[in-house]
Amino acid sequence: MVGIAKLFIEIDGLTTMKMKPKSLGRINTKVLTPEEIEDIKYMRAAYAQAKKAYMLGEVPIGCVIVYEGKIIGRGYNRRNTDKTALAHAEITAIKRATRVIKDWRLEECKLYVTLEPCQMCAGAIVQARIPEVIMAAENPKAGCAGSVMDILNNPEFNHQVQVKKGVLKEECSALLKDFFVELRARNKAEKEQKGTL
Ligand SMILES: [Zn+2]
Repeated sequence: MVGIAKLFIEIDGLTTMKMKPKSLGRINTKVLTPEEIEDIKYMRAAYAQAKKAYMLGEVPIGCVIVYEGKIIGRGYNRRNTDKTALAHAEITAIKRATRVIKDWRLEECKLYVTLEPCQMCAGAIVQARIPEVIMAAENPKAGCAGSVMDILNNPEFNHQVQVKKGVLKEECSALLKDFFVELRARNKAEKEQKGTL
């Protein structure tokens, strides 16, 4: 290790190691700010929720709501399991958080979600007066934080939401991609099995 300076950043078991070869005389990787470290920490908690959906065979989307540095609401997609279009990750997390806050307004909270919210969830986020949303992957087909439309930031509404995109994007997108690859393979196998009957 002579001539090498090491910098470790621990985030809930996620270790980012940055190597600085002294001979180069400069840091060749980006150092995370405390805010970026916090965002990764809570997005990892949202990812853990998405994994629960994945284990149920549901589209893996997870969400957490943070108040004063604490997670007060968690949720994951259970649409098929609960047989309702209302069982989206964000809606469940909002319900749980409002129970803790004892108010429908979540004005001091941050919402972390692994995929860009749909029109229903973006609407609920605006209704709950959540000031900030941090998301991982964008959803070009159904996202309502700028992809299909921008419900979170419409000047016509009485509340606008600050949005940050791309936190843990690779991990959250990979989970979704794995899910759809497996789903297609399952559907294909089922079709083939039916064809042989
Ligand atoms: Zn939704």
